Amino acid sequence: MNILAIGAHPDDIEESCGGTLAKYVKQGHKVFTATATNGNIGSATLPMDEIARIRKEEARRAAAIIGAEYICLDYDDEMFFEDKAARINFINLVRYCKADVILTHSPHDYNPDHELTSKIINDIAVMIPIAKIETKAKPYDKIPIIAYFEPVHGLGFIPTEYVDITEEIEIKKAMCAEHKSQIAWMQDNYKDALGNGDKNFFDGMITMAKFRGMQCGVDYAEGFRMANDAFRVVPRRILP
Ligand SMILES: [Zn+2]
Repeated sequence: MNILAIGAHPDDIEESCGGTLAKYVKQGHKVFTATATNGNIGSATLPMDEIARIRKEEARRAAAIIGAEYICLDYDDEMFFEDKAARINFINLVRYCKADVILTHSPHDYNPDHELTSKIINDIAVMIPIAKIETKAKPYDKIPIIAYFEPVHGLGFIPTEYVDITEEIEIKKAMCAEHKSQIAWMQDNYKDALGNGDKNFFDGMITMAKFRGMQCGVDYAEGFRMANDAFRVVPRRILP
């Protein structure tokens, strides 16, 4: 299968489904990672175009760890809004990847870029095969299946599917660690929100992976929910 993981920001994918993507690759599937925005507000000191360049390179390096191709749609971070061009860009992306499966944000999340990314993916899934909707990449005859990864710290999210990532946890850590620019920035900006003495924003992901692992009887896991429509028409398991 071709797998597309799309998040709003560089680092969303690695923290939410990096282990699952590594597992897909091990099983012989082709993986693409993408972000809607370029993360260009992710620094208190660097100019926006410079931090965007750095963050796209960090995302590219994280993807390269599992041999995935990274694509950025280059919207402004926290200023991502829906219009016709955005819909077309998303359709083109999914067609370029010929995605069988798309992993993306939950429709309910703390961040508007996350929720909009999820919404557009849901909206366009049925449009992928439609030839009248022209994009640079050609239509293909499939409606991709969508699975939601969980919001930061899993708040309000009860998984219906778990992926055992015990063997992939070190790869997930390495993917997260590529986002060096964000570790200090998140700590500076969200110290109170992070609470509990997290030294590193990504430490929380390890806690979550242990927590989800505990729920399904393995050391580390990632949790997902299937999009409702996909769940009805797909009787087989598409997560690894
Ligand atoms: Zn994000």
